[in-house]
Amino acid sequence: MGFRDRLRAERTTVFWTFVLYAALTAAAALLTRFNHGISLIWLANGPLLAVLCRTPPHRWLPIAAAAWLGMVCMVFALFGFLLVAIPVALIDVGEALVAAALLRRRGVCDSLFRSVGTVPVFVAACATAAVLSGLAGVALLAGVRHLAFLPMWSDWIIGHGLGLLLGTPLALVVRRDEGGWTELARPGRAWAAAGVALLVAAVTFGAFWQSSLPLLFLPFLPVVIASFAFQRVGAAVSVVIVAVIGGVLTRFGHGPVMLVHGDAALHLQFFHFYLATLFITALPIAAALVQREALVRALAENEARYRLLADNATDIILTFDPNGIVRFVSPAAREIALYEPEALIGTSIAELIYPEDRARVRAVYQAGLATPERSHAFEFRAVKADGTVSWFEGNSRVVTDADGRPSAIVCILRDLEGRKQREAELEHAAATDPLTGLLNRTAFRRRVEERLRGEDQPGTLALIDLDYFKMVNDVHGHATGDTALLVLADLLRANLRADDAVGRIGGEEFAILFAGRGTAAAVAICDRLRVSLAQTMIPAPHDSFSITMSAGVMPLRRDLSVDALFSRADDALYRAKALGRNRTERAVGADPVGVPA
Ligand code: GH3
Ligand code: MG
Ligand code: MG
Repeated sequence: MGFRDRLRAERTTVFWTFVLYAALTAAAALLTRFNHGISLIWLANGPLLAVLCRTPPHRWLPIAAAAWLGMVCMVFALFGFLLVAIPVALIDVGEALVAAALLRRRGVCDSLFRSVGTVPVFVAACATAAVLSGLAGVALLAGVRHLAFLPMWSDWIIGHGLGLLLGTPLALVVRRDEGGWTELARPGRAWAAAGVALLVAAVTFGAFWQSSLPLLFLPFLPVVIASFAFQRVGAAVSVVIVAVIGGVLTRFGHGPVMLVHGDAALHLQFFHFYLATLFITALPIAAALVQREALVRALAENEARYRLLADNATDIILTFDPNGIVRFVSPAAREIALYEPEALIGTSIAELIYPEDRARVRAVYQAGLATPERSHAFEFRAVKADGTVSWFEGNSRVVTDADGRPSAIVCILRDLEGRKQREAELEHAAATDPLTGLLNRTAFRRRVEERLRGEDQPGTLALIDLDYFKMVNDVHGHATGDTALLVLADLLRANLRADDAVGRIGGEEFAILFAGRGTAAAVAICDRLRVSLAQTMIPAPHDSFSITMSAGVMPLRRDLSVDALFSRADDALYRAKALGRNRTERAVGADPVGVPA
């Protein structure tokens, strides 16, 4: 809101405060003044307090001044100039200021009548303000008019206190954005509202038409119904209906109030008291409903968020009650522990825990109950649906009800072994050639690097390439080519020691790391493999055939990079190819001094 708009809004507020305060002053002075010149109902401070509650204190002065001026002007218009009106108006307006300050101090100004807790704070603030303003006002009037202090003071307190109690919520609820009027715009609700209003009117009329039975309690019923159905609007409108119908009938000498022995003034006070009681009964109901609605909304939002998490979590989310009965299990239970989530609901959580671990988990649970504000981690073995036992990591938290008693325990369970196994599987898959199950190029290189970094004699590298392999594919088909690759892979695997490594580093290129062996040994083994391969018949759809391989051998030297070592081995392999294939060649510089054969 811009400055101009704010100024305009403020001017409007000030103007209407002046008008309303003057009008309510006139109403109180003309309609509710009896014996000693005090108005028995002082509603004017209700709307004023409502406005002050919605305005920051630094902007209170013009509003309070407008109210004061409205009252002084009205008294002047009605009764001519009365000097005493000036301080009395100050005291009246002061009362609203005191009540507003008390409410602001307690921090309930913005949430007034939206939660049950604000109602008693409001009642206390109104009573305090009325008692204080009564002291000042009645002392002044009693001095001026030489009247008895105590009866006037009680009239003041009742008139002003009840006036605030009735007037403030009415004024607040009248505002469109405050009272829940939007509810009436929903289809069908306006008709229901009219029906409830009619019910309130009919019951009030019935109770106030007759004067023989004390039926004052009857209107409570439709007012409470209205509060349930339409919350604050329902409470306020139905109290206004009771006020108008009951007030008019009482004014004309009808109704249960006549059963009270006393004059018209007492009857008015009593009716006022009755209305305030009615409203203060209905308001907390309305406030509780508003609160509940907000709560339900927040809960639904939370639930949706939690559901989303639970349904998509890879860990199991599980809830059980304080007796250990499972109340909720997320879908991950199916994959991780092989249980159908529905089948677990209603079973005892203890049955899922490996017997030896139950006491330990129970101890954690007890600790959790003692400190519900913390979450607790624990590890335990759980029995899966197929009977296997697996280690789990759990994190639990106790949910407490409004009285702080545990109402549920929420856990997140993570399958430790399953995770480790999956990690290992992933790692293996990342290092393995899918066709042959040998190391892939990256993993093989890593093994060479590790070997070079180690303390031991590093060993020898051999690169192997199948001869004329394109032709194998062309003649026998790609599938048979794959079979040939598998035959070689098996042959290599079968002839190596545990420390050695073998990989498929290209299409039909293989590599061997002979750990700790020198060139001569490596060449000898390569030749043996070469002969074996040439003698192995590879099955093909129509007949079988054999293949040969060429190899290049290069000792691992720590003074050369891995790339250089591969490159030299490759050169040797190339030479083997060039020299006619089906042979093993040593790389240049393959036999430095001191490398054992
Ligand atoms: P050379 O004796 O010179 O090595 O002749 P070559 O025909 O073997 O030539 P090269 O090594 O360049 O040929 C590689 C061929 O290996 C090409 C491709 O047809 C075949 N190949 C590569 N990967 C695979 C595979 O995974 N499966 C099959 N069946 N064939 C493959
Ligand atoms: Mg090749
Ligand atoms: Mg080849």
